[in-house]
Amino acid sequence: MKNGNDKTMMDRREFLKRLGAGTAAVSTAALAIGCGPRNKGDNPVQGEPPAGKMTYRTNPTTGDRVSLLGFGMMRLPSVGGRSAREGVEEIDQEMVNSMVDYALEHGVNYFDTSPAYCQGKSERATGIALKRHPRDKYFIATKLSNFAKSTWSREASIEMYRNSFKELQVDYIDYMLLHGIGMGGMKEFEQRYIDNGMLDFLLEERKAGRIRNLGFSYHGDVEVFDTMLARHDLYKWDFVQIQLNYLDWKYAKQINPRNTDAEYLYGELAKRGIPAVIMEPLLGGRLSNVPDNIVKMFKEREPEKSVASWAFRFAGTFPDILTVLSGMTRMEHLQDNLHTYCPLDPLDEEELALLQQAAAMMMEFDTIPCNDCKYCMPCPYGLDIPAILLHYNKCINEGNIPASRQDPNYRKARRAFLVGYDRSVPKLRQAAHCIGCNQCSPHCPQGIFIPKEMQRIDEYVEKLKQEIL
Ligand code: SF4
Ligand code: SF4
Repeated sequence: MKNGNDKTMMDRREFLKRLGAGTAAVSTAALAIGCGPRNKGDNPVQGEPPAGKMTYRTNPTTGDRVSLLGFGMMRLPSVGGRSAREGVEEIDQEMVNSMVDYALEHGVNYFDTSPAYCQGKSERATGIALKRHPRDKYFIATKLSNFAKSTWSREASIEMYRNSFKELQVDYIDYMLLHGIGMGGMKEFEQRYIDNGMLDFLLEERKAGRIRNLGFSYHGDVEVFDTMLARHDLYKWDFVQIQLNYLDWKYAKQINPRNTDAEYLYGELAKRGIPAVIMEPLLGGRLSNVPDNIVKMFKEREPEKSVASWAFRFAGTFPDILTVLSGMTRMEHLQDNLHTYCPLDPLDEEELALLQQAAAMMMEFDTIPCNDCKYCMPCPYGLDIPAILLHYNKCINEGNIPASRQDPNYRKARRAFLVGYDRSVPKLRQAAHCIGCNQCSPHCPQGIFIPKEMQRIDEYVEKLKQEIL
């Protein structure tokens, strides 16, 4: 592994041993931190990150020297300043260009897109931004995102594949992924990639050099993951993209029985020497909006660092990780992440244990495991499902879910919940309009039974409005 930092050089066994130290090594000082004054000022670290200090990892197959920070192109900025993920507004190409230029200048060289991101517009915007730079200065990752049944045929899948080259303006793809393996179980995997011969097709494309590395991104069904790895001798996966963060490390399955703990996923890949690309290091933003007592715990240890930086350091500390993807919409997100990885300061034993303690504390909060992926959208009845769930989670994290009118915080919390709800979710898109059709839940990789949550939140809102808690 090419890295000048001794702490990063620790081998896999040593790393897992440190992590296995678990909560035992948490300092009593950290454990003693309870509810204190709320810290609302968790601003990302801004300002110029150091130049020439990026931490790189080496791909054992191709020797690619890949930046530990990978640019996820799924939340590109829109002209209105928000993320263009939902495709409501046009992508702000000038801002994308500036962020890509800045990322390259600071050593980022891995850009991850998909035909499905930003309502199908991410690949084109990525291609335009990167085309302005020499092709050997960056690696492009994209995916065969043939989710819709209409794209399962061989012809439609090949058309989608070829279109990626056109949109990205390239004649080879550095990292090509089968997208979202496991979401629909074994049967859907067979239909999307085996029955139509698409996996054989992609293997041939790799042989021809139009794909330099072939892998898959994994969500959900562990049977599919295990099957894919059992066939590693046949397919020779060059990399695998998994969801990894300090909450999912030991609790993914507990949060959602359909998910698999990241500890298992990473361990299985590391055993076989397959590099891992990490998605959801922040769990859809949940790990940058953690409960106040955890914010306080982090700030006492590292006052200048953002809450999000802890999650990025956690992901980056693993030695067999090639790159950690971050979907960045604003320049300050990019700068904050660059500060974390230029260079990486790997977590020590005590810090790893502190994060395991933070995860255990988070599990005590009854949040809904929505990571804002938006796969459940659009709702045919116009609900903004993730916005409703995220508002609810935010209020839990901030202590604004009063359990009864006897709660000393009742008036303030009630107001914060109701006013915040109207601000975050337009009235016509709120939970009250759910008719329980359940067209959404089958698409949720987190296994959330959405109509039940909509009903629960709506009943709670009504009680608050009528003050009958
Ligand atoms: S169950 Fe509710 S939220 Fe889900 S699609 Fe139907 S109306 Fe929309
Ligand atoms: S409810 Fe599920 S599918 Fe919808 S945004 Fe949240 S995690 Fe994603």
